[in-house]
Formats: sequence, C-alpha cells, structure tokens
Amino acid sequence: MAAAPAPDSLALLDLARAEFTLVDPRDPHLRVDDLAPHRGDGIFETVLVTRRGAADHVHARDLHFTRFRASAAMLELPAPDPDLWHAALDAVVAEHRAARGDDEPFTVRYTLSRGVDAPVGWALTIPLDPKYVRQRAQGIAVVTLDKGYPAYFGQIAPWMLIGAKTLSYATNQAAGRWAAAHGAEDVIYLSHDGRVLEGPSANVVIRRGGELLTPDPKAGLLHGTTQQTIFSHAAEAGLLCSYTDLTVDDLMSADGVWLTSSARVSVPVTALDGAALTYDEEFSARMRTWVLGDPGTV
Ligand code: PLP
Repeated sequence: MAAAPAPDSLALLDLARAEFTLVDPRDPHLRVDDLAPHRGDGIFETVLVTRRGAADHVHARDLHFTRFRASAAMLELPAPDPDLWHAALDAVVAEHRAARGDDEPFTVRYTLSRGVDAPVGWALTIPLDPKYVRQRAQGIAVVTLDKGYPAYFGQIAPWMLIGAKTLSYATNQAAGRWAAAHGAEDVIYLSHDGRVLEGPSANVVIRRGGELLTPDPKAGLLHGTTQQTIFSHAAEAGLLCSYTDLTVDDLMSADGVWLTSSARVSVPVTALDGAALTYDEEFSARMRTWVLGDPGTV
C-alpha cells in the first residue's frame, strides 16, 4: 500500500504574545464564527517556495509582506509584526520540507483574520497545483468578463477594498467556473468601461515590441508581486516597462499576453474570447527564468 502523503504544515500565530505554534493541520483550529469563514473578513498572501541548492527560497518575500501590511491597513486590522510572521513562515517551510523529503516547489498561504474577539493568524503550506506547470508550458484560453465597475472606481469607493488582498474570493471562484463552462481556463476582468483589469487570481502583462505593459493598479486591481519582479528584471534587460490603460484591442494586437501570479509564475494566453493570440515561447521562458532563477528549479 502506498504511504499516505505527509500532511501540510500549519503554524498558528498568537498575535498578542508574538508567538507561534506548529500544529497538525488535520485538527480543528478555527471557530465557525471566526470572521474569516463567517464573512471572508481578513487578508492573506500566497508565496511560492522553491529549492535553490540546499536551501528553500521564498520568492518575493518582502514584496508580499509589504502588500500584506498595506492590506491590513486598508481593512483597519493591526499591522502584522514582520519578525513574527517571517519566523512562522520559515518554520512551516522547514517542517514541510522535512516531512516531504523531496525538492518539489510548494506555496505558503499566510492569513490574518479579524477573528472572533481579536484578530488571529496562521500560515499553511499547500502543494503547488500541477495544472500551473502544464499551463506555463502550453498556454491557456481565456475569456473576458465585466467586473461591473468603472476603471479607477477604488479611488472614489475605498469601502470596495480594491487593491487589498482580502479573503473574499467567492466571485473570483465563480468566474473560474464560468470560464470552464465556456471552454476557457481563466478569465481577464474588464472594467465596466472596457479597460483591462486583471484575472481572478493573476495580473495581465503584455509585450509590445521592446515594451512590457500592465494595467495601473489604481485602475482597480491588485498590484502583483510577480508582475513587479518581472518588471524589475525586464527593465534591467533594457525593456521599457509601463503601467498604463489597456483595452481588449491592445491584447489582441500584442506580441505576447501573460497571466502572472506567485503560483502560476507566468502563463501565456494563447486565445482570448475564441481568437488566437500571438504566443511568444522564447519570451515566456525568459520571463519564467526572471521569476524563478535557474530554469531547472521548477
Ligand atoms: N490579482 C489577484 C486578484 C490575485 O489574487 C493575485 C494573486 O493571487 C494576483 C493578482 C497576482 O499577485 P502575485 O503575483 O503577488 O501572486
């Protein structure tokens, strides 16, 4: 009989005492009236962990934590203590790696909930969804969907929490099911007035000649750590990198369109609303290397 896979690793954070405990993720730890399951009232980050030689590397660690603190501020949650959260992150990474005894990449999702009486936090390791490895190599068909608000709506509607990475992902999940029911693997949201925003769990990056372009986060989207990493390497490589308004026509005429996120890294979009897009295999590989380092790591 095959051995049961080792369980993922979970740290529970005691924010008042600035301590964490490693616990069995199969045991119950959360009350059903915790505001995370009850109302989706909390924030999270998902970081990618890959093996680099003898050590594990947490990709874009600081960019993620900076966004985590910005999300906390937007939701009026207490500012996360970097020492505590980084220590908990390192502990689950080490425990996961020791339990698995392999070199496979994985992710850590760390979460801050408004809790019941006081905020609570945890960090959980999650194996990488193998679909992303296939998608990186083969590309995906995507459909556009109306997000229902105009571009830059967050500027006049701060209660919408646009730009915060909140736990409220039910509509993002529904968009994924909509895509699957319509012959596609993912979604690109458009503002109600026709600007490209982002995917339900990814940013949109396009190449136009020697230029990389992505929508301005202020237009109504999450500022991606992966997109930021890609832009810094691309700028070093001499490409012009800009945040700008984009339309579906810009995607259709681009020299390459990608969905980027920590877990998927960069996935080429090969078809949009049924129309074939230019697929730039060489540039896709270059982008993955910028994010992952050595192309052999994942
Ligand atoms: N946009 C949304 C809505 C997301 O959920 C994510 C990541 O999950 C991203 C963009 C990409 O962000 P990152 O590259 O930091 O993972």
